[in-house]
Amino acid sequence: MGYENYIVRCAGCGERPEQIPEYRDRAREEPESFNSAQEVVLLDEGTFDPNTRLFLCTDCYIKAGMPLNSDLRGRYELVRNMMGDWANPIKGGDK
Ligand SMILES: [Zn+2]
Repeated sequence: MGYENYIVRCAGCGERPEQIPEYRDRAREEPESFNSAQEVVLLDEGTFDPNTRLFLCTDCYIKAGMPLNSDLRGRYELVRNMMGDWANPIKGGDK
């Protein structure tokens, strides 16, 4: 199963790294380490899974109950297969 064409997204809110302030800020503050917000996620986000190209931003990680990475892998597969409740894009400005 090749997921390499998937857009990198938060599995919780559905946002891309460049839409999420914590990654944008890191990229701006550490230009010697990161070329982009996405690179922050690829290189330094512990919840990032290269197979599904999903991660959880800090807000969504906390909302999800701070799951273990081993649990996340299975959730990510489900998210990519069928967008369940846990993966729904955020509605409105609920953040
Ligand atoms: Zn999120």
